[in-house]
Amino acid sequence: HQDEEKLTEYLDELEFLAFTAGATVDKRFTQKLSQPDSKTFVGSGKAEEIKNYVKENEIGTVIFDDELSPSQLKNLEKEMEVKILDRTNLILDIFAQRAQTSYARTQVELAQYQYLLPRLTRMWTHLERQKGGIGMRGPGETEIETDRRIIRDRITLLKDKLKTIDKQMATQRNNRGKVVRVALVGYTNVGKSTLMNALSKSEVFAENKLFATLDTTVRKVVIGNLPFLLTDTVGFIRKLPTQLVESFKSTLDEVREADLLVHVVDISHESFEDHIDSVNQILQEIEAHQKPMVMVFNKIDAFAYEKKEEDDLTPATKKNVSLEEWKKTWMAKSKFPTVFISALTKENFPEMKKMIYDEVHKIHISRFPYND
Ligand code: GDP
Repeated sequence: HQDEEKLTEYLDELEFLAFTAGATVDKRFTQKLSQPDSKTFVGSGKAEEIKNYVKENEIGTVIFDDELSPSQLKNLEKEMEVKILDRTNLILDIFAQRAQTSYARTQVELAQYQYLLPRLTRMWTHLERQKGGIGMRGPGETEIETDRRIIRDRITLLKDKLKTIDKQMATQRNNRGKVVRVALVGYTNVGKSTLMNALSKSEVFAENKLFATLDTTVRKVVIGNLPFLLTDTVGFIRKLPTQLVESFKSTLDEVREADLLVHVVDISHESFEDHIDSVNQILQEIEAHQKPMVMVFNKIDAFAYEKKEEDDLTPATKKNVSLEEWKKTWMAKSKFPTVFISALTKENFPEMKKMIYDEVHKIHISRFPYND
Protein backbone atom coordinates (compact mmCIF):
# COMPACT_ATOMS: atom_id res chain seq x y z
CA HIS A 1 0.00 0.00 0.00
CA GLN A 2 1.43 3.38 -0.95
CA ASP A 3 -1.13 5.72 0.41
CA GLU A 4 -1.20 6.15 4.20
CA GLU A 5 -4.81 7.31 4.29
CA LYS A 6 -5.94 4.31 2.23
CA LEU A 7 -3.96 1.99 4.45
CA THR A 8 -5.78 3.24 7.54
CA GLU A 9 -9.11 2.83 5.78
CA TYR A 10 -8.28 -0.72 4.70
CA LEU A 11 -7.27 -1.65 8.22
CA ASP A 12 -10.36 0.04 9.65
CA GLU A 13 -12.39 -2.18 7.38
CA LEU A 14 -10.45 -5.29 8.40
CA GLU A 15 -11.01 -4.38 12.04
CA PHE A 16 -14.73 -4.02 11.34
CA LEU A 17 -14.71 -7.44 9.70
CA ALA A 18 -12.93 -8.89 12.73
CA PHE A 19 -15.47 -7.22 15.00
CA THR A 20 -18.32 -8.65 12.93
CA ALA A 21 -16.76 -12.10 13.32
CA GLY A 22 -16.62 -11.59 17.07
CA ALA A 23 -12.98 -10.63 17.66
CA THR A 24 -11.43 -7.52 19.20
CA VAL A 25 -8.32 -6.08 17.62
CA ASP A 26 -5.41 -5.42 19.95
CA LYS A 27 -2.78 -4.01 17.64
CA ARG A 28 -2.14 -3.23 13.99
CA PHE A 29 1.10 -3.94 12.16
CA THR A 30 1.94 -2.53 8.76
CA GLN A 31 4.90 -2.89 6.48
CA LYS A 32 5.95 -1.35 3.20
CA LEU A 33 7.13 -3.95 0.73
CA SER A 34 7.27 -3.69 -3.05
CA GLN A 35 5.59 -7.08 -3.06
CA PRO A 36 4.60 -9.60 -0.39
CA ASP A 37 7.24 -12.04 0.77
CA SER A 38 6.59 -15.34 -0.98
CA LYS A 39 7.30 -17.37 2.16
CA THR A 40 5.81 -15.38 5.00
CA PHE A 41 3.88 -12.49 3.34
CA VAL A 42 5.63 -9.96 5.62
CA GLY A 43 9.42 -9.75 5.86
CA SER A 44 11.27 -11.88 8.39
CA GLY A 45 12.00 -8.92 10.69
CA LYS A 46 8.33 -7.97 10.80
CA ALA A 47 7.34 -11.58 11.34
CA GLU A 48 9.68 -11.68 14.34
CA GLU A 49 8.22 -8.45 15.70
CA ILE A 50 4.67 -9.80 15.44
CA LYS A 51 5.70 -13.10 16.96
CA ASN A 52 7.21 -11.38 20.00
CA TYR A 53 4.19 -9.18 20.45
CA VAL A 54 1.86 -12.16 20.22
CA LYS A 55 3.86 -14.03 22.85
CA GLU A 56 4.13 -11.13 25.29
CA ASN A 57 0.48 -10.23 25.09
CA GLU A 58 -1.01 -13.70 24.77
CA ILE A 59 -2.73 -12.89 21.49
CA GLY A 60 -4.89 -15.67 20.07
CA THR A 61 -5.01 -14.86 16.38
CA VAL A 62 -3.13 -12.88 13.75
CA ILE A 63 -5.20 -11.65 10.80
CA PHE A 64 -3.78 -10.67 7.41
CA ASP A 65 -5.61 -8.28 5.08
CA ASP A 66 -5.14 -10.41 2.02
CA GLU A 67 -5.49 -13.97 0.90
CA LEU A 68 -2.41 -15.93 1.94
CA SER A 69 -1.12 -18.75 -0.21
CA PRO A 70 -1.32 -22.20 1.38
CA SER A 71 2.43 -22.22 1.98
CA GLN A 72 2.48 -18.71 3.44
CA LEU A 73 -0.23 -19.77 5.83
CA LYS A 74 1.68 -22.87 6.85
CA ASN A 75 4.97 -21.03 7.29
CA LEU A 76 3.42 -18.26 9.33
CA GLU A 77 1.67 -20.68 11.61
CA LYS A 78 4.87 -22.59 12.20
CA GLU A 79 6.85 -19.42 12.74
CA MET A 80 4.44 -17.56 15.00
CA GLU A 81 2.84 -20.49 16.79
CA VAL A 82 -0.52 -18.81 16.77
CA LYS A 83 -3.66 -19.13 14.71
CA ILE A 84 -3.35 -17.26 11.41
CA LEU A 85 -6.37 -15.99 9.54
CA ASP A 86 -6.42 -14.29 6.18
CA ARG A 87 -9.04 -11.96 4.79
CA THR A 88 -10.76 -14.72 2.84
CA ASN A 89 -11.03 -17.02 5.83
CA LEU A 90 -12.39 -14.17 7.94
CA ILE A 91 -15.07 -13.29 5.40
CA LEU A 92 -15.98 -16.96 4.96
CA ASP A 93 -16.35 -17.23 8.72
CA ILE A 94 -18.72 -14.28 8.86
CA PHE A 95 -20.74 -15.78 6.04
CA ALA A 96 -20.88 -19.10 7.91
CA GLN A 97 -22.21 -17.34 11.01
CA ARG A 98 -24.78 -15.42 9.03
CA ALA A 99 -26.10 -18.03 6.63
CA GLN A 100 -29.75 -18.51 7.53
CA THR A 101 -31.32 -20.73 4.92
CA SER A 102 -30.10 -24.14 3.89
CA TYR A 103 -29.30 -22.67 0.50
CA ALA A 104 -26.97 -20.02 1.93
CA ARG A 105 -25.41 -22.59 4.24
CA THR A 106 -24.73 -24.87 1.29
CA GLN A 107 -23.14 -22.00 -0.62
CA VAL A 108 -20.90 -21.07 2.28
CA GLU A 109 -19.95 -24.66 2.98
CA LEU A 110 -18.92 -25.11 -0.63
CA ALA A 111 -16.82 -21.95 -0.54
CA GLN A 112 -15.20 -23.08 2.70
CA TYR A 113 -14.27 -26.47 1.30
CA GLN A 114 -12.86 -24.87 -1.83
CA TYR A 115 -10.72 -22.65 0.37
CA LEU A 116 -9.75 -25.59 2.54
CA LEU A 117 -8.75 -28.10 -0.09
CA PRO A 118 -5.36 -26.64 -1.10
CA ARG A 119 -4.64 -25.85 2.55
CA LEU A 120 -5.51 -29.24 3.89
CA THR A 121 -2.12 -30.17 5.37
CA ARG A 122 -2.55 -27.25 7.69
CA MET A 123 -5.43 -29.02 9.35
CA TRP A 124 -3.11 -31.50 10.99
CA THR A 125 -1.16 -28.93 12.96
CA HIS A 126 -1.73 -29.15 16.68
CA LEU A 127 -2.92 -25.54 16.91
CA GLU A 128 -6.00 -26.05 14.81
CA ARG A 129 -7.68 -28.57 16.99
CA GLN A 130 -6.90 -26.86 20.28
CA LYS A 131 -8.22 -23.44 19.52
CA GLY A 132 -11.38 -23.49 17.43
CA GLY A 133 -13.23 -20.17 17.22
CA ILE A 134 -13.07 -17.80 14.29
CA GLY A 135 -12.17 -19.47 11.04
CA MET A 136 -13.09 -22.86 12.44
CA ARG A 137 -16.84 -22.75 12.13
CA GLY A 138 -18.46 -24.62 9.31
CA PRO A 139 -17.19 -27.99 8.17
CA GLY A 140 -16.97 -30.20 11.24
CA GLU A 141 -13.79 -31.69 12.64
CA THR A 142 -14.37 -35.25 11.61
CA GLU A 143 -14.90 -34.20 8.02
CA ILE A 144 -11.84 -31.99 7.98
CA GLU A 145 -9.63 -34.75 9.31
CA THR A 146 -10.55 -37.22 6.63
CA ASP A 147 -8.67 -37.10 3.36
CA ARG A 148 -8.80 -34.86 0.35
CA ARG A 149 -10.80 -37.31 -1.67
CA ILE A 150 -13.67 -37.14 0.75
CA ILE A 151 -13.58 -33.37 0.61
CA ARG A 152 -13.57 -33.47 -3.18
CA ASP A 153 -16.57 -35.78 -3.11
CA ARG A 154 -18.29 -33.39 -0.75
CA ILE A 155 -17.54 -30.47 -3.09
CA THR A 156 -19.07 -32.39 -5.98
CA LEU A 157 -22.11 -33.18 -3.88
CA LEU A 158 -22.57 -29.59 -2.75
CA LYS A 159 -22.20 -28.36 -6.32
CA ASP A 160 -24.90 -30.78 -7.44
CA LYS A 161 -27.14 -29.69 -4.62
CA LEU A 162 -26.64 -26.05 -5.57
CA LYS A 163 -27.29 -26.81 -9.21
CA THR A 164 -30.64 -28.30 -8.30
CA ILE A 165 -31.57 -25.30 -6.19
CA ASP A 166 -30.26 -22.95 -8.88
CA LYS A 167 -32.63 -24.57 -11.35
CA GLN A 168 -35.55 -24.19 -8.97
CA MET A 169 -34.65 -20.58 -8.39
CA ALA A 170 -34.33 -19.92 -12.12
CA THR A 171 -37.81 -21.36 -12.58
CA GLN A 172 -39.09 -19.17 -9.78
CA ARG A 173 -37.55 -16.16 -11.44
CA ASN A 174 -39.13 -17.12 -14.76
CA ASN A 175 -42.48 -17.53 -13.09
CA ARG A 176 -42.31 -13.99 -11.92
CA GLY A 177 -43.21 -13.24 -15.50
CA LYS A 178 -42.56 -9.96 -17.09
CA VAL A 179 -42.85 -7.83 -13.99
CA VAL A 180 -39.96 -5.37 -13.92
CA ARG A 181 -37.21 -6.48 -11.58
CA VAL A 182 -35.09 -4.07 -9.64
CA ALA A 183 -32.05 -5.12 -7.60
CA LEU A 184 -30.44 -3.15 -4.82
CA VAL A 185 -26.69 -3.43 -5.11
CA GLY A 186 -23.93 -1.79 -3.13
CA TYR A 187 -21.04 -2.22 -0.78
CA THR A 188 -21.78 -4.01 2.45
CA ASN A 189 -23.40 -1.92 5.22
CA VAL A 190 -24.43 1.02 3.01
CA GLY A 191 -28.12 0.75 3.93
CA LYS A 192 -29.63 -1.55 1.31
CA SER A 193 -31.81 -3.45 3.75
CA THR A 194 -32.92 -0.23 5.42
CA LEU A 195 -33.90 1.15 2.04
CA MET A 196 -35.67 -2.09 1.16
CA ASN A 197 -37.68 -1.84 4.37
CA ALA A 198 -38.54 1.77 3.74
CA LEU A 199 -39.67 1.10 0.18
CA SER A 200 -41.58 -2.10 0.78
CA LYS A 201 -42.68 -1.46 4.37
CA SER A 202 -41.33 -4.89 5.23
CA GLU A 203 -39.02 -5.95 8.01
CA VAL A 204 -35.72 -7.04 6.55
CA PHE A 205 -32.89 -7.52 9.01
CA ALA A 206 -30.67 -4.40 9.11
CA GLU A 207 -27.68 -4.13 11.39
CA ASN A 208 -24.50 -2.12 11.67
CA LYS A 209 -22.32 -5.08 10.90
CA LEU A 210 -20.92 -6.40 7.67
CA PHE A 211 -23.03 -8.76 5.59
CA ALA A 212 -26.23 -8.69 7.61
CA THR A 213 -27.91 -9.93 4.44
CA LEU A 214 -26.80 -13.17 2.84
CA ASP A 215 -29.95 -14.48 1.30
CA THR A 216 -31.75 -12.43 -1.23
CA THR A 217 -35.12 -11.08 -0.25
CA VAL A 218 -37.66 -10.23 -2.90
CA ARG A 219 -40.54 -7.86 -2.20
CA LYS A 220 -43.26 -6.45 -4.32
CA VAL A 221 -43.17 -2.68 -4.34
CA VAL A 222 -45.69 -0.30 -5.85
CA ILE A 223 -44.82 3.28 -6.72
CA GLY A 224 -47.58 5.33 -8.32
CA ASN A 225 -49.66 2.27 -9.36
CA LEU A 226 -46.65 0.70 -10.99
CA PRO A 227 -45.71 -2.62 -9.39
CA PHE A 228 -42.23 -4.07 -9.58
CA LEU A 229 -40.13 -6.62 -7.72
CA LEU A 230 -37.37 -5.32 -5.51
CA THR A 231 -34.48 -7.57 -4.49
CA ASP A 232 -32.02 -6.97 -1.69
CA THR A 233 -28.72 -8.69 -2.45
CA VAL A 234 -25.63 -9.66 -0.53
CA GLY A 235 -23.31 -6.72 0.05
CA PHE A 236 -20.19 -6.46 -2.03
CA ILE A 237 -16.77 -5.90 -0.52
CA ARG A 238 -13.25 -5.14 -1.67
CA LYS A 239 -11.43 -8.39 -2.44
CA LEU A 240 -14.53 -10.51 -2.16
CA PRO A 241 -13.17 -14.06 -2.03
CA THR A 242 -13.41 -15.65 -5.47
CA GLN A 243 -14.79 -18.83 -3.90
CA LEU A 244 -17.75 -16.77 -2.78
CA VAL A 245 -18.38 -15.07 -6.10
CA GLU A 246 -18.50 -18.55 -7.61
CA SER A 247 -20.74 -20.21 -5.05
CA PHE A 248 -23.05 -17.25 -4.65
CA LYS A 249 -23.87 -17.50 -8.29
CA SER A 250 -27.58 -17.74 -7.77
CA THR A 251 -27.64 -14.80 -5.41
CA LEU A 252 -25.75 -12.85 -8.01
CA ASP A 253 -28.10 -14.13 -10.71
CA GLU A 254 -30.71 -11.89 -9.15
CA VAL A 255 -28.45 -9.02 -10.06
CA ARG A 256 -27.57 -10.45 -13.44
CA GLU A 257 -31.20 -10.89 -14.36
CA ALA A 258 -32.50 -7.63 -12.95
CA ASP A 259 -33.87 -5.01 -15.35
CA LEU A 260 -32.67 -2.12 -13.26
CA LEU A 261 -29.97 -1.76 -10.63
CA VAL A 262 -30.24 0.66 -7.74
CA HIS A 263 -26.67 1.26 -6.65
CA VAL A 264 -26.69 2.36 -3.01
CA VAL A 265 -23.67 4.27 -1.71
CA ASP A 266 -22.86 5.32 1.87
CA ILE A 267 -21.71 8.89 1.36
CA SER A 268 -20.89 9.28 5.04
CA HIS A 269 -18.12 6.69 4.61
CA GLU A 270 -14.69 8.12 3.84
CA SER A 271 -13.93 5.44 1.26
CA PHE A 272 -17.24 5.68 -0.55
CA GLU A 273 -15.57 6.27 -3.91
CA ASP A 274 -13.48 3.12 -3.51
CA HIS A 275 -16.66 1.29 -2.62
CA ILE A 276 -18.29 2.46 -5.85
CA ASP A 277 -15.29 1.15 -7.78
CA SER A 278 -15.39 -2.22 -6.02
CA VAL A 279 -19.09 -2.62 -6.75
CA ASN A 280 -18.66 -1.66 -10.39
CA GLN A 281 -15.83 -4.11 -10.70
CA ILE A 282 -17.91 -6.98 -9.35
CA LEU A 283 -20.79 -5.96 -11.62
CA GLN A 284 -18.38 -6.20 -14.50
CA GLU A 285 -17.18 -9.62 -13.37
CA ILE A 286 -20.73 -10.93 -13.42
CA GLU A 287 -21.44 -9.06 -16.67
CA ALA A 288 -24.15 -6.88 -15.20
CA HIS A 289 -22.40 -3.57 -15.76
CA GLN A 290 -24.42 -2.48 -18.74
CA LYS A 291 -27.79 -2.43 -17.08
CA PRO A 292 -29.72 0.76 -16.46
CA MET A 293 -28.92 2.10 -13.03
CA VAL A 294 -30.02 4.65 -10.47
CA MET A 295 -27.32 5.95 -8.14
CA VAL A 296 -28.60 6.48 -4.61
CA PHE A 297 -26.21 8.25 -2.26
CA ASN A 298 -27.50 7.30 1.18
CA LYS A 299 -26.84 8.46 4.77
CA ILE A 300 -26.68 12.18 4.01
CA ASP A 301 -27.86 12.69 7.61
CA ALA A 302 -24.56 11.22 8.81
CA PHE A 303 -22.37 13.11 6.38
CA ALA A 304 -19.58 14.93 8.23
CA TYR A 305 -18.05 18.04 6.72
CA GLU A 306 -14.98 19.77 8.10
CA LYS A 307 -14.70 23.16 6.50
CA LYS A 308 -11.11 24.15 5.93
CA GLU A 309 -10.00 27.62 7.03
CA GLU A 310 -8.20 29.59 4.36
CA ASP A 311 -4.99 29.84 6.36
CA ASP A 312 -5.05 26.11 7.11
CA LEU A 313 -2.06 24.69 5.26
CA THR A 314 -2.66 21.02 5.96
CA PRO A 315 -3.55 19.07 2.82
CA ALA A 316 -7.25 18.87 2.02
CA THR A 317 -8.95 15.55 2.69
CA LYS A 318 -12.24 14.13 1.57
CA LYS A 319 -13.77 15.46 4.76
CA ASN A 320 -13.16 19.02 3.54
CA VAL A 321 -15.55 18.53 0.66
CA SER A 322 -19.11 19.64 1.39
CA LEU A 323 -22.18 17.64 0.53
CA GLU A 324 -23.13 20.30 -2.03
CA GLU A 325 -19.77 19.90 -3.73
CA TRP A 326 -20.10 16.11 -3.78
CA LYS A 327 -23.55 16.49 -5.29
CA LYS A 328 -22.24 18.72 -8.04
CA THR A 329 -19.34 16.38 -8.75
CA TRP A 330 -21.46 13.26 -8.93
CA MET A 331 -24.37 14.79 -10.82
CA ALA A 332 -21.85 15.79 -13.47
CA LYS A 333 -19.87 12.59 -13.38
CA SER A 334 -22.60 9.96 -13.19
CA LYS A 335 -24.06 8.59 -16.38
CA PHE A 336 -27.14 7.60 -14.41
CA PRO A 337 -29.94 9.39 -12.59
CA THR A 338 -28.44 10.30 -9.23
CA VAL A 339 -30.07 11.22 -5.94
CA PHE A 340 -28.92 11.99 -2.39
CA ILE A 341 -31.07 10.62 0.42
CA SER A 342 -31.25 9.34 3.95
CA ALA A 343 -32.99 6.00 4.32
CA LEU A 344 -33.19 6.73 8.02
CA THR A 345 -34.83 10.18 8.00
CA LYS A 346 -36.38 9.66 4.56
CA GLU A 347 -35.00 12.94 3.33
CA ASN A 348 -35.42 13.25 -0.46
CA PHE A 349 -37.48 10.08 -0.61
CA PRO A 350 -40.07 11.50 -3.03
CA GLU A 351 -37.30 12.51 -5.41
CA MET A 352 -35.74 9.05 -5.27
CA LYS A 353 -39.07 7.30 -5.74
CA LYS A 354 -39.82 9.45 -8.78
CA MET A 355 -36.44 8.54 -10.24
CA ILE A 356 -36.98 4.82 -9.74
CA TYR A 357 -40.54 5.15 -11.02
CA ASP A 358 -39.35 6.83 -14.22
CA GLU A 359 -36.80 4.11 -14.90
CA VAL A 360 -39.20 1.27 -14.11
CA HIS A 361 -41.84 2.95 -16.25
CA LYS A 362 -39.50 3.12 -19.23
CA ILE A 363 -38.80 -0.61 -18.96
CA HIS A 364 -42.47 -1.36 -18.36
CA ILE A 365 -43.72 0.40 -21.49
CA SER A 366 -41.04 -1.22 -23.62
CA ARG A 367 -42.44 -4.52 -22.41
CA PHE A 368 -46.15 -3.75 -22.48
CA PRO A 369 -46.45 -1.11 -25.24
CA TYR A 370 -50.25 -1.39 -25.48
CA ASN A 371 -51.17 -1.30 -21.83
CA ASP A 372 -49.88 2.09 -20.94
P1 GDP B 1 -26.82 -3.20 4.12
O1 GDP B 1 -25.73 -4.06 4.61
O2 GDP B 1 -26.41 -2.42 2.90
O3 GDP B 1 -28.12 -3.93 3.90
O4 GDP B 1 -27.06 -2.08 5.24
P2 GDP B 1 -28.16 -2.01 6.39
O5 GDP B 1 -29.48 -1.62 5.82
O6 GDP B 1 -28.09 -3.25 7.20
O7 GDP B 1 -27.65 -0.75 7.21
C1 GDP B 1 -26.37 -0.73 7.81
C2 GDP B 1 -26.36 0.27 8.94
O8 GDP B 1 -26.51 1.61 8.43
C3 GDP B 1 -27.51 0.08 9.93
O9 GDP B 1 -27.02 0.32 11.22
C4 GDP B 1 -28.51 1.13 9.51
O10 GDP B 1 -29.33 1.55 10.58
C5 GDP B 1 -27.60 2.24 9.04
N1 GDP B 1 -28.25 3.14 8.07
C6 GDP B 1 -28.96 2.79 6.96
N2 GDP B 1 -29.40 3.88 6.31
C7 GDP B 1 -28.97 4.96 7.01
C8 GDP B 1 -29.09 6.39 6.84
O11 GDP B 1 -29.70 6.91 5.92
N3 GDP B 1 -28.48 7.17 7.79
C9 GDP B 1 -27.80 6.64 8.84
N4 GDP B 1 -27.25 7.49 9.70
N5 GDP B 1 -27.66 5.31 9.03
C10 GDP B 1 -28.23 4.47 8.13
